[in-house]
Amino acid sequence: MVNAGRLAHLDKEDFAVEKHDYDLFVIGAGSGGVRAARMAAGFGARVAIAEDRYMGGTCVNVGCVPKKLYVYASEFGKAFKDAKNFGWNSAAPAFNWATLRDNKKTEIARLNAIYDNLLAGAHAEVIKGHARILDAHTVAVGAQRYSAEKILIATGGWPHIPPFPGSELAISSNEVFDLAQFPERLVIVGGGYIAVEFAGIFNGLGAKVTQLYRGPLFLRGFDADIRAHAAQEIAKTGVDLRFEVNVESISKGPGGLNVLLTDGSTLEVDAVLYATGRKANLENLGLENVNVKISDAGTIEVDENYCTSEPSIFALGDVVGRMELTPVALAEGMSFARRQFGGLENTVDYEFIPTAVFCQPNIGTVGFTEDEARAKFGPLRIFKSTFKPMKHTISGRDERTFMKLIVERASDRVVGVHMMGPDAGEIMQGIAIALRAGATKAVFDATIGIHPTAAEEFVTMREVWRED
Ligand code: FAD
Ligand code: NDP
Repeated sequence: MVNAGRLAHLDKEDFAVEKHDYDLFVIGAGSGGVRAARMAAGFGARVAIAEDRYMGGTCVNVGCVPKKLYVYASEFGKAFKDAKNFGWNSAAPAFNWATLRDNKKTEIARLNAIYDNLLAGAHAEVIKGHARILDAHTVAVGAQRYSAEKILIATGGWPHIPPFPGSELAISSNEVFDLAQFPERLVIVGGGYIAVEFAGIFNGLGAKVTQLYRGPLFLRGFDADIRAHAAQEIAKTGVDLRFEVNVESISKGPGGLNVLLTDGSTLEVDAVLYATGRKANLENLGLENVNVKISDAGTIEVDENYCTSEPSIFALGDVVGRMELTPVALAEGMSFARRQFGGLENTVDYEFIPTAVFCQPNIGTVGFTEDEARAKFGPLRIFKSTFKPMKHTISGRDERTFMKLIVERASDRVVGVHMMGPDAGEIMQGIAIALRAGATKAVFDATIGIHPTAAEEFVTMREVWRED
C-alpha cells in the first residue's frame, strides 16, 4: 500500500522491493518510535510499529507528562500561602492524592488513544505485543513473524536500582505515580533530574522528603553556580537535602520502612524512591540473533545515520543514550525517517539543546557550562544576576532567582545561559533560539526588555561578574 503523503520524487523502487512484509518495522511506540513510524509512513513506506506496554512510551505514561501534571499539583500549596499577603484569605487547603492520581490516569488514557489514532491516520500498522528480533530482517511478536527491509529499535530505557540489602523494597519512577497511598515520609535517592524533580513534587504536596546524594553536590553536569544555587533554594523549600551519603540497607519495620544510611543514621519512612539513572531497555529483544554492538554503558552503538553494526537495523532515542530527552528522541526519529525514506538530508545537531529541571523554582539551561565553555572557547566573560522575584516582595516567600550568561571573550558570542527561577523552562526556549542563531552579547544588549519580567534581566546584564 502506498500512502497519499508519499513524496512525488520517490518511486517505489527507492524502497524495498516488496519481498518483505514492511519497509520499516519499528520496535517501541514511544517518542522516537512513533515519530519515525509516522514520518516514514508519510513518505510512503509500509510501516509496522510494535508496542508491548503503553502507547506514547515513557514520556506520556511515566515521564514528562504525568511528571509535569504532578509539578503543577505541587505548586498550589505554596501559591495558597503566597496569596495571603495579596489579600486572599481561604481556609487551610487540603490535598487529596487519589484525586490527582486518578485524574492523571484519565488524561494519560486520553493521550494513549490519541497516539493510536495518529498512527492509524498515518497508515502505520500498530501491533500490540513484545517484539523480538529473529534475524536482520525478521521480527516476532508472539507467534507471528514479520519481515522488514529495515528494523528500528526505539525501546527506550528502564529505571535502574542498584542491588543492596532490601533494594526490592525501593520503588522507581515507574511506580511512584500510582502509589495506592500518599507517602507522608519519603526518601529519594539520587541527584539527577528525576530525584530533584520528585523531591520538589512530594515536598510541595506536603510529604516530609529526604533527598540523598552520594557526591558533594547534586545535578552533576549542570553549571556549578546553578548547582550551588539549586542546593540553597531547594533546601529552603523544606527538602532535607543530604550530600555525601547513600543507603546501606532497607528493611520493613512496624512503623514503615527502616532505612540505614552509610553515615550510620537511620530513617523511618513510607517509601524509598530510587532515581539512580536509567538503562537501555534491551530486555528479551533478541539481539543475540544479530550483529548489533552494545557500548560499555549498555546502550546500542549507532553511527551518524542511527545505523547499528547490523546494516538493516537502526536505533535511536534513549536506547542509544545520547541525550535522554523527548525532543531529542523526536528529532532523531524525524532525521531517521527523512533520510531513510524521504530522500532528504537532515542531521541532528546535539549542541545548544535546551533543557529544564522542573524543580521549584525551575532550572532552565542551554549551551555550555562555564567549565565546558572555558575548555572549548578559552577566555570568557561571565554575567550574572540574583534577585528576589517581584511576586515575592509581597508574598514574603524566601526565594531568589539566579541567572547567568557565559560569553566567549574573543567573539562576544553567548555560549551558555543558565537560570533558576520561576518559569525558567519557558524562558529558556526563546533564549535557545538566540544561541542557535549565534547571538552575541551585543545582540542581547541591543534587545529591548519586556517590563516587568524576570526574563528582561537577560538583556540588561551590563556588569561583568567574572572575566578571564
Ligand atoms: P520510550 O519513550 O521509553 O519508548 C520506548 C517504548 O518501547 C516503550 O513504550 C516500551 O514499552 C516499548 N518497548 C520496549 N521494548 C519493547 C519490545 N521489545 N517490544 C515492544 N515494545 C517495546 N524528557 C524530557 O524531554 N522532558 C521531561 O520533562 C522528561 N521528564 C521525564 C520524567 C521521567 C520520570 C522520566 C523517566 C523520563 C523523563 N524524560 C523527560 C525523558 C523522556 O521520557 C525520554 O527521553 C523519552 O521518552 C525517550 O523516548 P524513546 O522513544 O527513546 O523511548
Ligand atoms: P540521571 O542520570 O540524571 O541521575 C542519576 C543520579 O543517580 C545521579 O545523581 C547519580 O549520581 C545517581 N546514582 C547513580 N547510581 C547510583 C548509586 N548506585 N547510588 C546512589 N546514587 C546513584 O538519571 P535520572 O534517573 O534522574 O533520569 C534519567 C534521565 O531521564 C535523565 O538523565 C534525563 O535525561 C531524563 N529526564 C529528563 C527530565 C527533564 O527533561 N526535565 C526529567 C527526568 C528525567 P552521580 O551524579 O554521582 O553519577
